[in-house]
Amino acid sequence: MAERLKHKLLEEEQIVDLVLGPDAYRLLPALVKQAESGQKGINVLLSREETYADINPVRLNSNGVSAFISIMRGCNNMCSFCVVPFTRGRERSRDPESIVDEARALFDKGYREITLLGQNVDSYKWSSENDLKQTVNFAGLLKAVAQINPKLRIRFSTSHPKDMSDEVLYAMAEYDNICKYIHLPIQSGSTRLLNKMNRTYDLPWYMQRIAAIRKIVPQVAISTDIIAGFCSETEADHQQTLQVMESVRYEMAYMFFYSERPGTQAEKKFKDDVPEAVKKQRLAEIIRLQQQHSFERNKKDIGQVFEVLVEGPSKKSDQEFAGRNSQNKMIVFPKKQCRAGDYVQVKVLDCTAATLIGKMID
Ligand code: SF4
Repeated sequence: MAERLKHKLLEEEQIVDLVLGPDAYRLLPALVKQAESGQKGINVLLSREETYADINPVRLNSNGVSAFISIMRGCNNMCSFCVVPFTRGRERSRDPESIVDEARALFDKGYREITLLGQNVDSYKWSSENDLKQTVNFAGLLKAVAQINPKLRIRFSTSHPKDMSDEVLYAMAEYDNICKYIHLPIQSGSTRLLNKMNRTYDLPWYMQRIAAIRKIVPQVAISTDIIAGFCSETEADHQQTLQVMESVRYEMAYMFFYSERPGTQAEKKFKDDVPEAVKKQRLAEIIRLQQQHSFERNKKDIGQVFEVLVEGPSKKSDQEFAGRNSQNKMIVFPKKQCRAGDYVQVKVLDCTAATLIGKMID
């Protein structure tokens, strides 16, 4: 927003004195001083090196159990619908030592689950400045964080299908505390549209990654992102998306209809030509199918016992606790002797499409 609306905010609206991008934080004291003397300013320049490695975020609104750690910034992919490569710049990965230190500090403070975050975590790659041969890839980073303590759960997001390697899958299989959950955005089931979106994989490649995930990490839950009604999408393309959903049967999905973002390749090159009513209709079909699949998947968990990390009281009742299993499914169960941050065994008795319902077993 700072990048896109800088002049509007500063000159037309006259509601702020400074418009700054995240990389200007080191200059903040000087810029605030400058603003105090009546000089307005803009600094939205992107740094090529900045990873915020030395900054320890203050975690407001945290439940004290789960936290996020940024491991990289930017994205080298150029998906035609996405504005991230223009606003966040090229990929740069954070020093693994600082990531492990941050995760360890969180564990010592009582956190029990961390999510390693990046636009494209599978392309995480750090090389030592002193010895370029000394490199750490994402699988290496995952293992290093997993070794901090078996009671610290590790999640990660987001994976790009073209980069999701078997090495990462083997690391997941090797460490119990690396959660058995993968978010693998497909966006569309039509290879023609994947091409147009510049996703750099086709449907056979994506399905082959799904097969590898299920083979190497059999207990895994998989979720995805889907865009309905991308430029030129035909009914046949849409049907292909529904077919992929039928064959993968995702546990969960984030589903949207396409809306054009200013400054993207798609805005410049393609016509946003699928009528809004058609986009909404297709999205509704996708959501309906996904709800069916989520419900089916959850029903299969009935009768099973999961290790659940307690996050706190459930949203609906203070007589219940809520927590997640390794597969990232939310489970609610009647309160017993335990508290947020504990691991407990919960037997699933019932479910909805979104939640498992169970009881703690001793
Ligand atoms: S959609 Fe994801 S992978 Fe594609 S350009 Fe945007 S951030 Fe990068």
